[in-house]
Amino acid sequence: MGIVNPNPFDRKMKMYIVILGVILLIAGIGGAAYYGFVPRTRVYGAIGVAVVGIVVAALGAMMKTTSAGATTKGQFTCAKCGAKFGSEVALNQHTKDKHGM
Ligand SMILES: [Zn+2]
Repeated sequence: MGIVNPNPFDRKMKMYIVILGVILLIAGIGGAAYYGFVPRTRVYGAIGVAVVGIVVAALGAMMKTTSAGATTKGQFTCAKCGAKFGSEVALNQHTKDKHGM
């Protein structure tokens, strides 16, 4: 069982990735619409930007989901030695065994 260490900066970065992807998607669709969806090099480029935006947003969203799943898990820290446990039962057991309380 690994120690869960939620990093707020990491979560903020994932949010920025999703926002960046959405911006790319909107810019790509907007660009394609601006050029009238006529098969031209510029339209292909705009659609390419939109596709990259979808991929980036999807990746960012997936990263966020795994992070949220990890951080919802409760964390119990021993007041005596700072050891971390996944449940209160495990912490109580540790406190009893190691510190005789
Ligand atoms: Zn302890």
